[in-house]
Amino acid sequence: MFADMQCTRTEHLHLAYDQASGLRAVVAVHNRNAGPALGGCRYLAYPDDLSAMADAVRLAQNMSYKAALAGLPFGGGKAVIIRSPHVANRAGVFEAFGRFVDSLQGAYITAIDSGSSVADMDCVAQHTRYVTSTSQGGDPSAHTALGVFAGIRSTAMARLGSDNLEGLRIGVLGLGNVGYAVAEQLHAAGAELLVADLDPGRVQLAIEQLNARPVLHDALPSTPCDIFAPCGLGAILNSQTVSQLRCAAVAGSANNQLSTLLVADQLESRGILYAPDYVINAGGLIHAALTYQGVGLGAITEHLGRISKRLTEIYAHAQAEKRSPARVAETLAERLIYG
Ligand code: NAD
Repeated sequence: MFADMQCTRTEHLHLAYDQASGLRAVVAVHNRNAGPALGGCRYLAYPDDLSAMADAVRLAQNMSYKAALAGLPFGGGKAVIIRSPHVANRAGVFEAFGRFVDSLQGAYITAIDSGSSVADMDCVAQHTRYVTSTSQGGDPSAHTALGVFAGIRSTAMARLGSDNLEGLRIGVLGLGNVGYAVAEQLHAAGAELLVADLDPGRVQLAIEQLNARPVLHDALPSTPCDIFAPCGLGAILNSQTVSQLRCAAVAGSANNQLSTLLVADQLESRGILYAPDYVINAGGLIHAALTYQGVGLGAITEHLGRISKRLTEIYAHAQAEKRSPARVAETLAERLIYG
């Protein structure tokens, strides 16, 4: 784990175990140069404890880059609660997590993420003020989706010469809170949707409501389309899936889409434009951060508009420097964080 921390430049890794609730939690604080570390709390099953820690470390670094490129006065952090097969008292687990977050005295501010909900954050809020996306602040997913949709338009502009999505074939992998909302906006903009999800109910809904064409989830990355939008879980882009892609661009909400940065070079050499995940999916963080600061919806919406501008700027640099947008984004983020 120390090698992972060294390679990602992670400041701290905190662990908590609570006998009464069975809480097993990890908080990774990547960097606090710009402000306290802010990032969601995953509530998922993991094959072992080390995978949970590694996930938190990787995702916390991603949050630092996201906050820096979104111009937010926060650093990057992430929590993972390891989900047991049988949870007797979910509220008790999140209350214990709230006490853990409070013990960090503001070094880390938590929020919802995959597997956790606004109701869980209400339990956390009973024990700490270092929490956002409670029922008062709201679920940030709709804001993430707005940013991703705007980012898909900028990506179409940069790669296909127009941001008009009418008639474009867009493959959406993962129809959860964000993916489905992105698919709705794409449908409204006239795009033709190819969709997949592990949950057949979500796919059926997209067929009925969005006239989407279902594709098996394993087959979607290799199905011809204009833009592939990964909106499920991470590491979907590896050397094998990238060699099979048949699209002009990849732009979706999933965190940590690239298994390694080398995959970004492979995308570049195949002429596939890649929207760096922590740039295009920053809408949720922007919402969580600004509601935490007590900022109103108008200012949040204005801030969301900067996502597509930032992406367009990164694409321009990438084209001029003949480098992958992922490498350009990383260089820019590290310059902002470390000076
Ligand atoms: P979610 O849990 O609501 O939805 C994920 C969906 O993807 C589920 O329907 C699931 O069945 C599906 N899925 C998972 N693996 C799949 C696979 N291999 N093939 C097909 N479908 C698969 O999560 P969400 O909140 O919509 O987030 C989606 C992604 O976006 C995640 O990677 C998340 O980390 C990232 N993200 C979310 C937010 C947010 O505001 N919710 C913000 C930034 C990034």
